[in-house]
Amino acid sequence: MKKLNVLITGASSGIGYSAAIAICGAGHNVYGLARRSDKLQKLSEECDGLSGSFLSIVGDVKNDYDIENAVKSMIDEFGSIDVVIPNAGLGHFNPLEKGTMEEWRSMIDVNITGVLKTIHSCLPHLLNSSGHVVNIGSVAARQVFQNSGVYCATKHFVLAMSESLRIEFGNKIAVTTINPGAVNTEFIGHTANESLREEYKPRFDSGMNPNFIANAILEAIESGGKGIYSEITIRPDIR
Ligand code: NDP
Repeated sequence: MKKLNVLITGASSGIGYSAAIAICGAGHNVYGLARRSDKLQKLSEECDGLSGSFLSIVGDVKNDYDIENAVKSMIDEFGSIDVVIPNAGLGHFNPLEKGTMEEWRSMIDVNITGVLKTIHSCLPHLLNSSGHVVNIGSVAARQVFQNSGVYCATKHFVLAMSESLRIEFGNKIAVTTINPGAVNTEFIGHTANESLREEYKPRFDSGMNPNFIANAILEAIESGGKGIYSEITIRPDIR
């Protein structure tokens, strides 16, 4: 298997963190971006000794420059981008009546604009490498749930972008969308509506381990030549 150079946004916790370890453990190089340098440092220590290399950069996907800078630095360090995983994302649960512009803007800025800017900045490099975009959607990319209209809309956007990339560049790059159900990460902690946060927390606490999602991501990026997982839905085993 060719060694892949993989950019992951939101590498400092949850799915991005686990994906970095799984991908480095399989011998690939990972370049991780997030805002919290202490968490990136901890990840770097965990990846130390694995067969792939891990490098990171502190940055905010709400800032175009941070993304451009990360892409440029990754090219300087690794020479190419074979895979991009625009994973940084967040959700605020609230009924529309109680939701705030601040909550909606943060989801739109990170889950939509941040994903779009990340893909757009990587695209010339992905075209050079016949690369792979692994978008992190959600079961909310295909279904709309109560108290999460704007979050669901952002994930519908992610899925639409995957389809658009496949239509425009399907003969040049691979595109995968991973649609997880509840995963046990820091995700639910962002919801400011305390009663909803407490109501939903057990569902996420008993959700899937992020390592399970990370293994699906690894499987998808290592599928080159055999076929392309265009969409993978992963739900908790509630039997
Ligand atoms: P976490 O909250 O554990 O991780 C989110 C990651 O995104 C963190 O590394 C965080 O890093 C990063 N991030 C958030 N905002 C920014 C920003 N402005 N700039 C850079 N990085 C940012 O959540 P998950 O791992 O669960 O979420 C990862 C993805 O998975 C998201 O897209 C989410 O929508 C999706 N998802 C999650 C599910 C779940 O049940 N947990 C289910 C389906 C999809 P930092 O704060 O250090 O910047």
